[in-house]
Amino acid sequence: MENLVTRAEWGALPPSQQWRALPRALGVKIHYEGREVPADLARPDQHHRCAARVREIQAMHLADPVQGWIDIAYNALVCPHGRVFEGRGARRESGANGDRRLNRAHYAVCAMLGDSGLTEPGPALLHGLCDAVDWLRERGAAGPQVVGHRDGRDTDCPGEPLYRWILAGAPRP
Ligand SMILES: [Zn+2]
Ligand SMILES: [Zn+2]
Repeated sequence: MENLVTRAEWGALPPSQQWRALPRALGVKIHYEGREVPADLARPDQHHRCAARVREIQAMHLADPVQGWIDIAYNALVCPHGRVFEGRGARRESGANGDRRLNRAHYAVCAMLGDSGLTEPGPALLHGLCDAVDWLRERGAAGPQVVGHRDGRDTDCPGEPLYRWILAGAPRP
């Protein structure tokens, strides 16, 4: 995938423990950041900020005292410019969907969108989400489902605009 940003490229820390293998999944659950994302991050000349944002999310997850995450919780993250940042990657269990049963059923992909600031997905971000789903199908035996974090869990994630896109069948724009 030409728009993939590997862990080495974004400067990931290694996981604190070995990942759990996940041979296949029913599909992919879509997430959002659920906090403020700067509205100007989507500007075409602002992609240089995205890797630092992914590093910040990984650092927050590794420091979370409740979740005990061993790594960034998502299998992949997608920035507003449509680049796909490798998280835990394919064939590895995520930590994002709520519990182990949910994490073994679906991969987890996070859109760099918030509950304030940048809240509406543009076409580049939606293309990137489609690319991430395709990548997990090819490399991780993800099944056909594309659903939201809120499907199966009491949460607002991934926010109304992205959830409307999911309900419309997660189409490539
Ligand atoms: Zn979520
Ligand atoms: Zn970007």
